[in-house]
Amino acid sequence: LVDRLVPFRATVFAEMSALAVAHNAINLGQGFPDTDGPASMLSAAVTAINGGRNQYPPGIGVPELRRAVARHQREHYGLDYNPDTEVLITVGATEAIAGAVVGLVEPGREVVMIEPYYDSYAATVAMAGGVRRTVPLIPDGDGFRLDRDRLGTAFTPDTALILVNSPHNPTGTVLSDDDLGEIARLCVEHDVVAVTDEVYEHLLFDGRTHRPLATFPGMRERTLRISGAAKTFNCTGWKVGWISGPPELVAAARAAKQFMSYVGSGPFQPAVAHALDHEMEWVADSAVRLRHQRDLLAEALREAGFGVHRSEATYFICADPRPLGFDDAAQFCRELPAAIGVAAVPVSAFVDDHDSWRHLVRFAFSKQEHVITEAADRLRAVR
Ligand code: PMP
Ligand code: GLN
Repeated sequence: LVDRLVPFRATVFAEMSALAVAHNAINLGQGFPDTDGPASMLSAAVTAINGGRNQYPPGIGVPELRRAVARHQREHYGLDYNPDTEVLITVGATEAIAGAVVGLVEPGREVVMIEPYYDSYAATVAMAGGVRRTVPLIPDGDGFRLDRDRLGTAFTPDTALILVNSPHNPTGTVLSDDDLGEIARLCVEHDVVAVTDEVYEHLLFDGRTHRPLATFPGMRERTLRISGAAKTFNCTGWKVGWISGPPELVAAARAAKQFMSYVGSGPFQPAVAHALDHEMEWVADSAVRLRHQRDLLAEALREAGFGVHRSEATYFICADPRPLGFDDAAQFCRELPAAIGVAAVPVSAFVDDHDSWRHLVRFAFSKQEHVITEAADRLRAVR
């Protein structure tokens, strides 16, 4: 293995999911739902398969999905993208991130990212030969906000782009309009491209709303906006994602993407197009269910004695096991499946600064109520 990938030999999800299987534990580690997406979307995929849509689709994605992605952003955010030149369908958001980074980052240039960061960001930047510069979230009451001082100093003449993830995995934080506005101001001032990972754009709770960075002044022309079907429509195994942005930036991502996977899989694309066009009410109901699941898990964690952070969105909530006598979350997560039959992931898997984050554990609540209730019973035994 090449040196620059040695730190990325195995993902934390593979490690913790294997432990979960080995101990027959409830897997609150890897973030995926345990129920299917809308029935009409599943039927649309079957119809596409039976209808013979089983050969290579167009490299940029099937036209009906590109049109649905464009329409969806116009309706939700007033963002206008040309489905033929400004939308690219990818193999999940993961490939969208990789295509953007490999297509836009010269070796040695810097990529700014929020810490904790989704694990693929660091690995992808390493594959491109780039250098990551992290801007930490800092505690703010029971939630988190961006460290503005570190944000200001992160932009240098070597900055190639900033990767922005809001709603944020693993903390469940929604960046404030103030924080997003400051990111936008710095991108414009330093002429830097933003790549925004918005895969949780529809999974916000308690009346919060999502505002894409691309809607801020000066950002439409310098932002590659990424989202996907996995989290919106409970189909993480379909691997359908997309990028939208100005033609020259999308073309850069496309140049890289075409040699990563060539094209995405065919029959799932029309099914996701159908869901974007007809199933957004299902998504709104799904967010309400998730909020309830979040509340159940948060309460269970509090009762078990954890310090619990506020989760404003996503599938995730972070908890601090120090009051229970555990100050190393990685060690705690390695022992948890055998000890009580629950798996979780340490936030330290998503950071460079291990000291600041060594005490936090991420739990996924994207599970049915009876599963969370069972996990809650087991968690009470953790002491
Ligand atoms: N970004 C974030 C923040 C994620 O949590 C995930 C995992 N769903 C991804 C990207 C990858 O998405 P996909 O499964 O569509 O590749
Ligand atoms: N995005 C999900 C998570 O953060 C799953 C990621 C994965 O398995 N690579 O848990």
